[in-house]
Amino acid sequence: MDSTQPDIFTGTFTQQEPIPEDAIAAAVAVMRHGRLHRYNVGPGEVAEAALLEEEFAAATGARYCLAVASGGYALGCALRAVGVQPGAPVLTNAFTLAPVPGAIAAVGAVPVFVEVTEDLVIDLDHLAAQAAATGAKVLMLSHMRGHICDMDRLMAICRAAGVTVIEDCAHTMGAAWRGVPSGRHGLVGCYSTQTYKHMNSGEGGLLVSDDAQVMARAIMLSGSYMLYARHRAAPPPEAFETLRWTTPNVSGRMDNLRAAILRPQLRRLPAQCAAWNDRYRVVEAGLAGTPGLTLIARPEAERFVGSSFQFRLAGWGAAAVQDVVARAAVRGVELKWFGAAEPVAFTSRYDSWRYAPAQTLPQTDRVLAGLIDMRLPLTFSLDDCAQIARILRDEVGRRFQTGV
Ligand SMILES: *Cc1c(COP(=O)(O)O)cnc(C)c1O
Repeated sequence: MDSTQPDIFTGTFTQQEPIPEDAIAAAVAVMRHGRLHRYNVGPGEVAEAALLEEEFAAATGARYCLAVASGGYALGCALRAVGVQPGAPVLTNAFTLAPVPGAIAAVGAVPVFVEVTEDLVIDLDHLAAQAAATGAKVLMLSHMRGHICDMDRLMAICRAAGVTVIEDCAHTMGAAWRGVPSGRHGLVGCYSTQTYKHMNSGEGGLLVSDDAQVMARAIMLSGSYMLYARHRAAPPPEAFETLRWTTPNVSGRMDNLRAAILRPQLRRLPAQCAAWNDRYRVVEAGLAGTPGLTLIARPEAERFVGSSFQFRLAGWGAAAVQDVVARAAVRGVELKWFGAAEPVAFTSRYDSWRYAPAQTLPQTDRVLAGLIDMRLPLTFSLDDCAQIARILRDEVGRRFQTGV
């Protein structure tokens, strides 16, 4: 690098890859025949939505799968399908994003927040304590920013407390814990195919489960009318016998156009996940040993997908953190800070969801006060990632050189 030129990054942190050509061709085929509604099929035709469900079930090893309108819809649908009633307490991560407590509130239930650890996962001791204190029987577990907690211990705690686990895998599609795909530990796994997630259909969601009753209810809820037999990754028609009379239609289907562009992306998902991790590891290596900066440990048992990067500026004051964020921005590196008092763009925190009862979570407050978050879109090259790390190292390290 020419040392007289300032090192400025010019990439765009919100720019995804284009939709692959075979997915575009599949979308055009659906538009040419015009049957976009998933239950609108020609003689002998299997809808793209039904094929996507079959393929996603196979990819995750789930017995059943349902494609829906969004990740948030999948979460709400799962809560209804497991029988969460209005007024019921539902455990969830204090460190997550707005659609998670939003889905709980949307069914009239009450979010009960659980502390986050310094490794950015749910605090399992606090989880056990909150379950005991509130009597909550459902946990909506958010694998926030792709960090997976000790799932063996989490499931043991939840089994002992009689807590049903729904997994929010918006950031862990393609990830696994001890070889078990994320979304397959709990009773239901929920995924998002919104533009910023691991597959891109603009909006979209998926649910997986091995439980016939829960999935039959989810399918009825999603707006199947009496056409559930057109699903393939679904329980047999007998499972719907009673449910079809008692389950409301809370319309939120996926259409064939989105399903058509997701199927080719699903085939590429393992390669995409590997590409994300290559980028993640370059940033991680570039930041290792930076004074004042704490990297997040990634356990051996966790097969993560590094589609975003987090680090902590532990113990820094708010002004010093804001200064780093501002100076990185000048050099083209867009950081998000989870410690800000006001919700900004996609970033908000548990105390900004004021429809939920107020809770005090000192450990979460302390972790979020120094938590920095950054997207790593696949449009960045490995060189881009090295440059980003160099800039951050420089700007974070500056505080120690100058003693600000
Ligand atoms: C994106 C997201 C969701 C919801 O997905 P949408 O498809 O946008 O509704 C849920 N949880 C987390 C953590 C997310 O980031």
